Amino acid sequence: MALADEGLDRAAVLGELEQLSRRDVAWREGRAFSLAYSAGPDVLALAEEAYARFSGANALNTDAFPSLRTMQADVVDTVAGWLHAPPGAAGFMTSGGTESILLAVLGARERARAERGVTAPSMVLPASAHAAFEKAAHYFGVRSVRVPVREDWRADVDAVADAVDDDTVLVVASAPQYPQGVVDPVAPIAALAAERGISCHVDACMGGVTLPYLERLGERLDPWDFRVEGVTSMSVDLHKYGYTAKGASVLLHRSRELRRFHTFVTDNWLGGVYGSSGLQGTKSGGSIAAAWAVMRHLGDAGYLALTRTARAATLALAEAVPAIDGLVLRARPDTTLVAIGAADPTGLDVFAVADELWRHGWYVDKQGPPASLHCTVNAVHDGRIDEFVAVLERAVAVVRAAASEGGAGAYGTIE
Ligand SMILES: *Cc1c(COP(=O)(O)O)cnc(C)c1O
Repeated sequence: MALADEGLDRAAVLGELEQLSRRDVAWREGRAFSLAYSAGPDVLALAEEAYARFSGANALNTDAFPSLRTMQADVVDTVAGWLHAPPGAAGFMTSGGTESILLAVLGARERARAERGVTAPSMVLPASAHAAFEKAAHYFGVRSVRVPVREDWRADVDAVADAVDDDTVLVVASAPQYPQGVVDPVAPIAALAAERGISCHVDACMGGVTLPYLERLGERLDPWDFRVEGVTSMSVDLHKYGYTAKGASVLLHRSRELRRFHTFVTDNWLGGVYGSSGLQGTKSGGSIAAAWAVMRHLGDAGYLALTRTARAATLALAEAVPAIDGLVLRARPDTTLVAIGAADPTGLDVFAVADELWRHGWYVDKQGPPASLHCTVNAVHDGRIDEFVAVLERAVAVVRAAASEGGAGAYGTIE
C-alpha cells in the first residue's frame, strides 16, 4: 500500500475498513464454526470498549500501569478457581493459547535441565495434541515424540508410558483435544509424569472455561485439572469460551517456583534490568482490560448460562449429523467441539462439503487425518443449529450429485 499523500479522514478510513470486512465470515451472526466466538452484541461491545480504553497501555511494566497488574491478577485468580488450583499457584495472561503452550514447553525444558540435568530434551504427546506444541518443539529445540491415540481418540496411556524416557521433559494431555473434542485421561498421564519428576501440561485452551461449568450442570467428568496431583501447568484461552477479545489466554503453574522456569530477566545490554512475563515485550493492556471487563460483566451466572447454551447447541448438532445421509460423527463431544466425517470416504469428499458451505457463507474447519469437518460450537449458535443443519444437508447432497472434490484447507495459514 502506498501511503496517501494526505491522510484520509476518520469516516473515510472506517468506511474502507467496512468495505474490507465484507468478504469476512459473518461470525457475529453465527456463521463461523471456527476461529471466532460471541456471547452476543452487548458482551462484544463491552469487550471492545474496554479494549479501546486500554489499547495503548502496556503491561510490560505494571509499576507504571498498576491497573493492569490488578486486572491481570484478578483474571488469573478467576481462572485458578475454575481449575481448582492450589493456593500458591501462579500464572500470567498471555496473547493466546500458542504463547501459553510455548511458555509451558520452555518452562518444562528449563526445569528438567535444572533439576535432572537433561540436555537433549524431548516431550511425549498424543497425536491429537495441538499444533502449537510442534511450534514449541521447533522454537525451543525440544524433540516432539508423538504417540498414537486410542480408537476413541483419547490419549493411549500405555503408549505415553512406553515413550517416556530419561530425556522427557514434558508429557501432555488435553481437555479436550481439538480435533475430535474428547478429554484425555489426565490422571494416569499426570501420575506417570509425577513418578519421574517430569512436568505435565494439561492443554485446556478449549475446555478450561466450559468444563468447570459442565461439572456444575451435572455432567460426570473424570478429573482433568489441578485436582490431579501430577499436573504442573495448564492453559486456558479466554478469547475462546471466555468470550472476550482476541489476545487473551492464561498460563497457570502449580507453584511460583514452577513459573520461574519460564520467565526471563536480563541486564546484559545498556538499558538496565529487563524482565518479561512471556514471549512478548510490550504487552497490550487492551486484551487484559477486555478479559477483566467481560468476566466482571458475565459473572458466574453468565458463564453458567453460556455454557448451558453452547452445550445444548453442541448436542443438537451432534444428534443431527448422523441423521444426514453420508455423514458420521467422529466422537460424542465431551464439551462443545464436533468432528464430522464421511460414512464412506470414497463416496463423499467432506472438504468439498466445506467448500460448498463457504459458498453459502458458513465456515467450518477442514482437518485430518482422517479428513473431517470440525465445528467449534459456542453461545452464538444458540437458535442457529437447525438452519446450519439444513444447509449442511443440502451441501452434502450437492457434493454427492456432482461428485466434487474439495480444495485443501487449513486451520491456520501463512499468507
Ligand atoms: C486454540 C487452541 C490452542 C492454540 O491457541 P491460539 O489461541 O490459537 O494460539 C491450543 N490448544 C487447543 C486445544 C486449542 O483449542
